Amino acid sequence: MKHDVKVRTAECSCGQVSLICKGEPIRTAICHCFACQKRTGSVFGVQARFSREQVSYTGDVVEYSRIADSGNQVNYAFCPACGTTVMLTLSALPEFTVIPVGLFTSRDLPQPSFSVYEQHKQAWVKFDCQIEQIS
Ligand SMILES: [Zn+2]
Ligand SMILES: [Zn+2]
Repeated sequence: MKHDVKVRTAECSCGQVSLICKGEPIRTAICHCFACQKRTGSVFGVQARFSREQVSYTGDVVEYSRIADSGNQVNYAFCPACGTTVMLTLSALPEFTVIPVGLFTSRDLPQPSFSVYEQHKQAWVKFDCQIEQIS
């Protein structure tokens, strides 16, 4: 019985990598950390967390890993042709796949429920919606 499952698609800038996400994300969140600012080239990241089995993709990806402040390894999967980061995974939480919200072809993802790394937030960034702030 799959008739009510929401299916969303996401893709990199050039379209070489295409993702399909089935069902609602577990959550969406804003991250103000320096790594997300670097990764996006913007001033914060907005990501949707899915269970790994909700996400499938086609196309080639290349991986880059870094060690987060928490000590966990974060893996970035990006398109080798255009450089868009299409998926993030944590080695400590392999059951989740995190996808940057801006990659989706629809604008109907749930509003972020919280933000993290508030201490690294650019001073002028403010949201009209009230979201929980976690440093
Ligand atoms: Zn691409
Ligand atoms: Zn971050």
